[in-house]
Amino acid sequence: MNQPTRFAPVEMTSEEFRQVAHRLVDQIADFLASLPDRPVSPSHSPQEIRQVLGDASLPEKGTPAGELLSRAAELLFEYSTFNGHPRFLGYITSSATPIGALGDLLAASVNSNVGGYQLAQMASEIEAQTVRWIAEFIGYPAGSGGLLVSGGNMANIVGFLAARRAKVGWDVRQRGLLNSSGRQLFVYVSKETHTWIEKAADLFGLGTDAIRWIPTDNKQRMDPMALQKQIEDDLVGGGLPFFVVGTAGTVSTGAIDPLPQIAAICRQYNLWFHVDGAYGAFAAALPESPADIRAISEADSVASDPHKWLYSPLEAGCALVRHPQTLLDTFSYNPDYYHFEEDLAGGAIDYYAYGLQNSRGFRALKVWLGLLQAGKEGYVRMLQDDVALAAALYELADNHPELEAFTHNLSITTFRYVPAGLEAGDEAVENYLNDLNTELLERLQSSGELFVSNAVLEGKFVLRACVVNFRTTLADIEAIPEIVTRIGRRVDQEIRPEKLH
Ligand SMILES: *Cc1c(COP(=O)(O)O)cnc(C)c1O
Repeated sequence: MNQPTRFAPVEMTSEEFRQVAHRLVDQIADFLASLPDRPVSPSHSPQEIRQVLGDASLPEKGTPAGELLSRAAELLFEYSTFNGHPRFLGYITSSATPIGALGDLLAASVNSNVGGYQLAQMASEIEAQTVRWIAEFIGYPAGSGGLLVSGGNMANIVGFLAARRAKVGWDVRQRGLLNSSGRQLFVYVSKETHTWIEKAADLFGLGTDAIRWIPTDNKQRMDPMALQKQIEDDLVGGGLPFFVVGTAGTVSTGAIDPLPQIAAICRQYNLWFHVDGAYGAFAAALPESPADIRAISEADSVASDPHKWLYSPLEAGCALVRHPQTLLDTFSYNPDYYHFEEDLAGGAIDYYAYGLQNSRGFRALKVWLGLLQAGKEGYVRMLQDDVALAAALYELADNHPELEAFTHNLSITTFRYVPAGLEAGDEAVENYLNDLNTELLERLQSSGELFVSNAVLEGKFVLRACVVNFRTTLADIEAIPEIVTRIGRRVDQEIRPEKLH
């Protein structure tokens, strides 16, 4: 970086950049080291946090970079929920690899635009290698392809759009959803499917009525008989089924749908088989995972989320398709103002042609670095440890007189607090337990001691711990029953008199 020769207040000299960046890196290193001693989430209200920033207008004059970065770091360190904290077990949000954070700094510094090969030669190759390694890791066939996207929602939407293009039987890109047959399109998902399907059905013109919510068994897995019956009924009724989603690791409880049976049904009726493995796909690399997960290999498309169980910093989702051509068929338009075809002829990938985005950041770098730093063996060990910790929590809850364990699948365990002497089962008591555990969850989340989330299982509000966290240890898990019952007893004392007579 040279001395600026024009007015460019966003430029930095090399010396300034070096100083400011070293200082920031020191602050980040201290922050990461101090995580276990910090509250996992802040106890401030939104009003308090907003007040810290104040309501001033955009300043007329600039401020030196060093000052700003120090202040930004302090603000974020003070007023954030830390998913990198060993006791963060909420939602399916992971601790982030430090190498991924550094990778993002490097990616932003080179600032490759991974939309076109000519703008991002090495970055495009690294993305292609990352996609191939993710496919290998989860047992998806060689010759498949895909790209990195912002997350699981987008990865699922890519699969949905590829299916719509490939299966409806007319040129949907030109004619839209109007078709001479007038047949209504249908998509099939279990009741436990993540809400992305509603966004997709709505935004891409089908409407949410096109979603057939197939019932699940008592383990939250799609009932394949019910799926087949619904497809048959819709065909008889003149509908046009085209897309079925099997989930590998549901968002509530980590259940794995019966993927082999779903795959067989899709083959029988010529439907697109998509697997939502945003959270769970990576568990396909563990030899001890339920056998059904292996049928990911039969899917036409798979969504996975490196920012979940590969611990990549946000954002990084990955959309895979069995045949890369199906993505070009769906997304490529070859406009006059891009002259990238010669790249394609030379085997170069122009990612803008494979997905929704045009300009694209270099998301793959942080994923690629993590994969190489840990290796396949390292990742398998970390995932196995997460699963083992979730299993340990299930055992602890199951054996505790004031805790009731519900489910354990992959690295998700659900349980709830039941005060001593209260008999679950009676309707009034069940309603009270829902109120109690709802309030308990809020208190836990603002306690700073532990961050869990919730699920609702057959009308019961339960606490849900998702161990997607390479910093969580057995000691953190063993601390949970004491924290939950201590805060639970306090809430029970406070609210029982008014809620349960
Ligand atoms: C998290 C999740 C999603 C959504 O992924 P984002 O990365 O949050 O967009 C979709 N499906 C399942 C099963 C998930 O766990």
